[in-house]
Amino acid sequence: ANTLMAGKRGLIMGLANDKSIAWGIAKALADAGAELAFTYMGDQFKKRVVPLADQLGVTRLYDCDVSNEASIDAAFDALKADWDTIDFIVHAIGFSDKNELRGRYVDTSRANFTLTMDISVYSFTAVAQRAEKMMPNGGSMLTLTYYGAEQVMPHYNVMGIAKAALEASVKYLAEDLGKDGIRVNAISAGPIKTLAASGIGDFRYILKWNELNSPLRRNVTIDDVGKSALYLLSDLGSGVTGENLHVDSGYHIVGMKAVDAPDI
Ligand code: NAD
Repeated sequence: ANTLMAGKRGLIMGLANDKSIAWGIAKALADAGAELAFTYMGDQFKKRVVPLADQLGVTRLYDCDVSNEASIDAAFDALKADWDTIDFIVHAIGFSDKNELRGRYVDTSRANFTLTMDISVYSFTAVAQRAEKMMPNGGSMLTLTYYGAEQVMPHYNVMGIAKAALEASVKYLAEDLGKDGIRVNAISAGPIKTLAASGIGDFRYILKWNELNSPLRRNVTIDDVGKSALYLLSDLGSGVTGENLHVDSGYHIVGMKAVDAPDI
């Protein structure tokens, strides 16, 4: 335990179960003394999120579907009734039809393109609009992205396009909110077996590939992501905004892994 987040409070969005990246972040923040509130999406997730909240002594839980403006407003109204101000917000939310997270990107439908962009990209901006109003003394906002935004990864398809747009929105939000002392950053996490990831085609193969080819020769965990989130959300990250921090065992820096060269 440490005191990096003592006296700070904030909202974590995107907790589905104990495999969620949001859970790794919540644990690291709670361990550092942060006071937390959670959102969950609908009753089907509530029953899994309540016991997790209990584990960390979190009593503020709000239903929020980020595809719906009224639902976001209701969640923030409820939060505001409990807390006047917050210091940080974590957005660990993404969605796309799993039938389009396999095969070719070129076959993406207009309906799923729009849905994916709405839930995975616009929602961060929608949340930033509400959170900004609760950060009169500055704050820190964090979202989650993936390397499929920067380079083509198998099956990531429309989600890669969405993450590229999300990473661009981090930069625009960082500029807009910087004058008010609000920092906005992303963590680009390496592949982790979560509910969302299970929708991606050949995900087990992607995990194995990253394990074998990343400089650290292992996959990252939700606790690795949690610790880096703590850096960006605490005062340790005070000079950092608009950044995309890769927490991926270094995978993104590898052009070609060294191997015993065959005779050619
Ligand atoms: P997860 O399934 O645990 O979390 C995804 C969350 O999104 C769930 O809690 C779900 O309820 C929520 N969500 C989906 N649609 C929503 C909506 N309309 N309104 C509100 N919430 C909604 O999976 P995860 O892997 O922890 O995903 C968290 C974030 O991390 C996502 O943005 C994902 O793209 C990103 N990410 C994941 C990986 C990975 O390999 N798991 C790697 C890099 C980035």
